[in-house]
Amino acid sequence: MFDALHPQPDDPLLALIGLYKTDDRKGKVDLGVGVYRDEQGATPIFRAVKAAERRLLETQESKAYVGPEGDPVFLDRLWELTAGSAGRGLATAAVQTPGGSGALRLAADLIVRAGGRKIWLGVPTWPNHASIFKAAGLEIATYPFFDVPSQAVLFESMADALAKAAPGDAVLLHASCHNPTGGAIAPEQWKELTEIIESRGLLPLIDIAYQGFGKGIEEDAAGLRMLITRVPEALVAVSCSKSFGLYRERTGAIYAVAASDKIASIARSNLALIARVSYSMPPDHGAAVVSTILGDDTLKADWISELSSMRGRITSIRDKLAAGMSRRWQSLTAVAGQEGMFSLLPLEEADVLALRANHAIYMPTSGRINIAGLKSAEVDAVIEKFLTL
Ligand code: PMP
Repeated sequence: MFDALHPQPDDPLLALIGLYKTDDRKGKVDLGVGVYRDEQGATPIFRAVKAAERRLLETQESKAYVGPEGDPVFLDRLWELTAGSAGRGLATAAVQTPGGSGALRLAADLIVRAGGRKIWLGVPTWPNHASIFKAAGLEIATYPFFDVPSQAVLFESMADALAKAAPGDAVLLHASCHNPTGGAIAPEQWKELTEIIESRGLLPLIDIAYQGFGKGIEEDAAGLRMLITRVPEALVAVSCSKSFGLYRERTGAIYAVAASDKIASIARSNLALIARVSYSMPPDHGAAVVSTILGDDTLKADWISELSSMRGRITSIRDKLAAGMSRRWQSLTAVAGQEGMFSLLPLEEADVLALRANHAIYMPTSGRINIAGLKSAEVDAVIEKFLTL
């Protein structure tokens, strides 16, 4: 039967990692990677994560199943971190998931079970969004989000497109730190979006995968917090992969905000069923680590401090990059004001390939760069190489 299968394309980012690894040129630079890197080029384990792991090793007494919904204490603590006071008192269904991707897939399956047929995605967005929603059977519609040459967020066009969406359509929004553009929605624009979503009867699905990497832990969730208190229903997909550096531990959660406790409880039972028939139960370790950190003032303070210094490093590289690159691309002054790990450079595919061939600078042909892939000491040299284009 397997003869009937068609080969599927490799993930271009994974292929890029392979190419980078086999390049033995000195001073090669990897801007393609999707994880945080420090000044040494490492993706460190947070100090608070190590401490929580040590504590868990000593105190955990069982590896018995956690149940399809996961650990309610983890879910409460993560919701408090994500939604803050805005989340308190809302009727909410919560299910622990294998990472943010798992949360998005559960959200998609829930939308389909509830009779939803279409989801609106920004152009561009993280490529896996469309793949996940299509796999769940949703139709994809798009709204303009970002213009690469001018580096502008196309808020007017986005609002116009969403104003034409049909009631019951879902709309995916990035809470902050947009992947791949870094483009941010201003607070007053969140208000306008909320009004459109409310008046059109749309279902917002907010993807929050980089909380703390943009302006701050609270600031990065501010739009989401405003939105969930004003609309009758919302879905929030949380990833702990970046914010806690737990990538491979597959840690996340899906929250469904509903109009009543009764409806939230039905939504919860549906999410749990979807989990049960997909992978049965979520992995525990990463969630136990997050729960331990968020439940302990000292560990939490240390986590916040380490996350702040990562954010500071990204911000300072953004400033340097914007100053240098804008000598050649005026619009790239915007890189300084963008948020999170990614920016999308206005490069042709030929430019990307030339940087790779001539200077061992690696990035996908889309021109997306991971700011954290740069070390402060090498930024100037890397800018000079871009300026040869
Ligand atoms: N949403 C966005 C925007 C992302 O960039 C990512 C990871 N690259 C995710 C969700 C999912 O993250 P994970 O499944 O690793 O938690």
